[in-house]
Amino acid sequence: MNEKREIAVPSRTKEILAKHGFTFKKSLGQNFLTEPNILRKIVETAEITEQTNVIEVGPGIGALTEHLAKNARQVLAFEIDDRLIPVLEDTLQDYPNVSVVHQDVLQANLPQITSEIFEEELPIKVVANLPYYITTPIMMYFLSSGLPVAEMIVMMQREVADRISAKPGTKAYGSLSIAVQYHMEAKLAFIVPKTVFVPQPNVDSAILKLTRRQTPAVSMSNEKEFFKLTKAAFQLRRKTLWNNLQNSYGKDEATKAWLRASLETAAIEPSRRGETLSLEEFAALSNAMEAGKQG
Ligand code: SAM
Repeated sequence: MNEKREIAVPSRTKEILAKHGFTFKKSLGQNFLTEPNILRKIVETAEITEQTNVIEVGPGIGALTEHLAKNARQVLAFEIDDRLIPVLEDTLQDYPNVSVVHQDVLQANLPQITSEIFEEELPIKVVANLPYYITTPIMMYFLSSGLPVAEMIVMMQREVADRISAKPGTKAYGSLSIAVQYHMEAKLAFIVPKTVFVPQPNVDSAILKLTRRQTPAVSMSNEKEFFKLTKAAFQLRRKTLWNNLQNSYGKDEATKAWLRASLETAAIEPSRRGETLSLEEFAALSNAMEAGKQG
């Protein structure tokens, strides 16, 4: 086989873009990685072996896909931009274990496609340099898809990675931290400077490593109500829990009595702010509210 330079080497990326006359679409969050060492580090962080099947979102011209293909059993990559499909056919022709699906990942029936593409039942990891404009929807889509994703190793804007991995009591902690940490353990793996992308974005990125918990972090009687509560608690960050709860659930006397009793059962001071509550405290409050509703 002829010795090709890696896709992510800046001079090769340039050649590929020129050969196909490709122009970036900002609206699709197209910022391509041009630093092979970062790609190696991503694959290492994801601990990908021949015993791993990988799903990639947005392969672009295949820079990360190539590294994944060299290490994983199979790679399934979703790309929305039709102009990139012939590019990927060209750049990834030496990797028979890659399947590119031309589709908006948010429209994909993930359990069905994965069972069609992956030949063996191996642990599935999602590894991606996510399009920034839909980072959160994509994460939530995977978490709620019913697909048994073991880990997600995903690149996103540093600020979003900070919010997702935030601990209670910090500024970055909010309903997004809770929504993700409920299912997954979240760890910020490393920072990626904005200088390694073309075109260069305005902010630095970070790689987040999310590992699925055996069971959700906390148990509760009603998941939907739990997430409604976490959203309500962070509605206005400067306000107390008491204010935010009344704003969301109602200010009439019966509702206030129910909220007050629930807070008391959960041993949570109404004057606290939402950001100081741990996942366990939110669960206790949600359970108390549910019990109070029925009683
Ligand atoms: N993986 C490449 C890299 O690291 O160089 C490209 C990453 S770029 C940040 C995001 C990619 O996601 C682009 O190729 C873009 O076209 C694609 N994309 C954007 N929205 C998408 C969607 N809804 N479904 C699938 N791919 C999408």
